[in-house]
Amino acid sequence: MERIENDYVFHRDLKKEYPIITHGVGSYLIDENGKKYLDACSGAVAANLGHGIPFIGEAMADQAKKAAFVHTMRFETKALHQLAETIGKMAPDQLNKVYFTTGGSEANESAMKLARQYHRDAGRSQKHIVIGRWQSYHGNTIGSLSAGGDVKRRHAYTPNLLNYAHVYSPYCHRCPYDRQHDDCLSNQNWTCVTDIERTILELGPENVSAFIAEPIVGSQQGAVPPPPGYFEKVRELCDRYEIVLIIDEVMTGFGRTGTNFATEQIRITPDIITFGKGVSAGYAPLAGMIVHDRLIEGLIQNSDGKFIHGYTYSGHPVAVAAGLAALDVYKRERVLDNVIKQGDYLFNRLLELKQKHTYIADVRGRGLLIGIELVRDRELDLLFDPAEKAADRLNGIAMELGAVFYPGAGSIDGTKGEHLIISPPLNAIKKEIDEIVRILDESLTIFK
Ligand code: PLP
Repeated sequence: MERIENDYVFHRDLKKEYPIITHGVGSYLIDENGKKYLDACSGAVAANLGHGIPFIGEAMADQAKKAAFVHTMRFETKALHQLAETIGKMAPDQLNKVYFTTGGSEANESAMKLARQYHRDAGRSQKHIVIGRWQSYHGNTIGSLSAGGDVKRRHAYTPNLLNYAHVYSPYCHRCPYDRQHDDCLSNQNWTCVTDIERTILELGPENVSAFIAEPIVGSQQGAVPPPPGYFEKVRELCDRYEIVLIIDEVMTGFGRTGTNFATEQIRITPDIITFGKGVSAGYAPLAGMIVHDRLIEGLIQNSDGKFIHGYTYSGHPVAVAAGLAALDVYKRERVLDNVIKQGDYLFNRLLELKQKHTYIADVRGRGLLIGIELVRDRELDLLFDPAEKAADRLNGIAMELGAVFYPGAGSIDGTKGEHLIISPPLNAIKKEIDEIVRILDESLTIFK
């Protein structure tokens, strides 16, 4: 009782106490007792340049001194134009207009609403259902939660979520459709794709507005890339049934997987890309969406140029200044080259660890977004009992030893494997990667 009375913070977990961080230096966070934590997951895969970069802090302060807030209903800033142009030029051809929000949930909410307005304006007003995937996370607002597949978070709000549909994402390592990858490849009959079409037909194509997916599944599965060709097939289906394809790059965008956007690797042009986290390298709450010219033309022709939506803090000048400065650092420091180099190195070191520990069943990912699947025994294919909270426990030990990871559990019923995401800042150096692997190696011994 005393602690509740003396503590005014509504913590993520009200029964837990959290270290108080006083500052950060590069890839490390330091708490009030001087303990150092190697940030092996960039916070929530957001602090992509590490901590304490004066250039970004100063750019934010300069903007705050000039104009900390203008309302985009009436005014804009130069910084807003510059950042939109920089992002638009990084995005695939034909995705040119950039809309800003403060977080990834809002970005996905905006994308799904835009898809709906686009259809409505074109006379397809029945199109309102979004199809998402069970192994996915798109945010915590009711719309983005409804599209996502985080069963625990969804459960608390059932039955009041939006009536969205779900399919399974391809996870060839443990195929949810019980298919064999080689078999799929040889006969080109992919259940993970035919199930999307079946779902569209069952719902009625005239009712389906958008399909939303992460290009590489992040928190719900632990950095799982799709099999080559999957998204091309999804694109074909979306074209066939006039469905807006939203690719959620909130976690993968801005170099995390070795290219500016992971969309480059899945070889399609989406209708909307949503982004967040890495755009400001975590220095400010900033996110948004990049929209295909076709949708923009629809808005101009049919809706008098107006998207019926908007947030007070869209394009907040200080957040936008943080984004501009962060993207400048990514470019100047040639961060993409480092992601490929250190990503390969980390991947190989984790494969070595897999040889050593039977608790690692799979190492996967791209660039510096790498996941390991944790099991009780790889040879016996024995999964951890979800009640053991293996990934959480492992991360707890790692934190004691001075590194923090991003733990997660399978999304459908909690029994499909535990995982850990390893996603250090994109400018991490080899010495830090070695330290990450050393601490992980030591932490894994708790399962003995
Ligand atoms: N989409 C993806 C892929 C994410 O990983 C996240 C956050 O983890 C979100 C959306 C939600 O973003 P936010 O927490 O900024 O609302």
